[in-house]
Amino acid sequence: MTNLRELLEILACPQCKGPLSLADQSTVQALRPQWVEKWQKQADSQSAPSGELEGGFICTACQLFYPVVDGIPDFVLDDALALQK
Ligand SMILES: [Zn+2]
Repeated sequence: MTNLRELLEILACPQCKGPLSLADQSTVQALRPQWVEKWQKQADSQSAPSGELEGGFICTACQLFYPVVDGIPDFVLDDALALQK
């Protein structure tokens, strides 16, 4: 995850331009079912990921989780998951 930590220093939330934090693995595990369900609803989508959800970035201001799939961060707002408290 070293590369993600380096990325963290140059990345900002695409919505609010605020700082991001790296999601811990328990958060990633908790959001995985939500992430899978989101993509299953778009089963006809050509952009459905074939990889594994391996991490993510969190914007605490927006309460959004930006997934990292196979080492590739996805900062498309439509792909972000809402954090549940
Ligand atoms: Zn934000």
